[in-house]
Amino acid sequence: MDLGLQGRSAIVCAASKGLGRACALVLAGEGVAVTITGRDEARLKATAAEIGSATGAVVLFAPGDIATEAGRAAALSACPSPDILVNNAGGPPPGDFRDWEREDWIKALDANMLAPIAMMKAVVDGMIDRKFGRIVNITSASVKSPIPNLGMSNGARSGLTGFVGGLSRQVARHNVTINNLLPGPFLTDRLKTTMAGAAKAAGKSVDEISAQRAAQSPAGRFGDPDEFARACAFLCAASSGYITGQNLLLDGGAFNASFG
Ligand code: NAP
Repeated sequence: MDLGLQGRSAIVCAASKGLGRACALVLAGEGVAVTITGRDEARLKATAAEIGSATGAVVLFAPGDIATEAGRAAALSACPSPDILVNNAGGPPPGDFRDWEREDWIKALDANMLAPIAMMKAVVDGMIDRKFGRIVNITSASVKSPIPNLGMSNGARSGLTGFVGGLSRQVARHNVTINNLLPGPFLTDRLKTTMAGAAKAAGKSVDEISAQRAAQSPAGRFGDPDEFARACAFLCAASSGYITGQNLLLDGGAFNASFG
């Protein structure tokens, strides 16, 4: 299927590894000139080189923390008028909400709600003028099915989801779409770290915990970041202009409902 993206440009935030990297790789494979961001400059540079040599596409990199103005300015200076924006950042830490102070909440809101809103604000009018824009926010399955010890993630991402519900309808007539992708467990470093912590707490091996968790999924396995990235690319396709304001769960069927 030709996604009709050849010659387009994209900013993929937080993309030196994991889900962001996978999205950048698939978009680059579709002929999109991609700009990736991340805080660790050496890793980001290496990822840009890997994606460039795997796809032959132009891959720029803009080091910085996307939760800060400076990090966003770096991304926008490398790619001032993107056709595609994939918003992403690290997730807030787990814990008991009694231990979280205002400062902790502000950090979570900055990374998982206000940074994507600031990026959308910076690019959406250009997309409207050019009559093409595809924005995808990487959120979490926890938006639909809250994870009790990830309260800051549940809260901040739900705030973003509510905002996007309104904005997506305001820009749809200009062929600018905004959708959210909600990952369940995908095999990335973040998931591996979470499982290492769970294994330690339970006095079990990481392999045991991993097998247990994978078996809980109706799919019997974790998601592959490439599967996630292909859903992202589909939402960015030229022919996906009538899909907007949606929250697409990618969780192997873990969310149990007759209707999505
Ligand atoms: P990951 O493998 O840990 O990768 C995170 C990527 O984001 C890295 O490239 C990291 O690079 C970059 N990053 C993190 N914070 C950043 C920031 N403030 N500014 C710029 N770059 C930043 O994580 P992942 O599994 O791909 O997860 C991506 C998002 O999806 C997270 O919000 C996570 O909570 C959410 N999620 C993941 C899963 C899953 O199963 N994997 C499930 C639900 C939700 P640097 O550290 O160098 O900045």
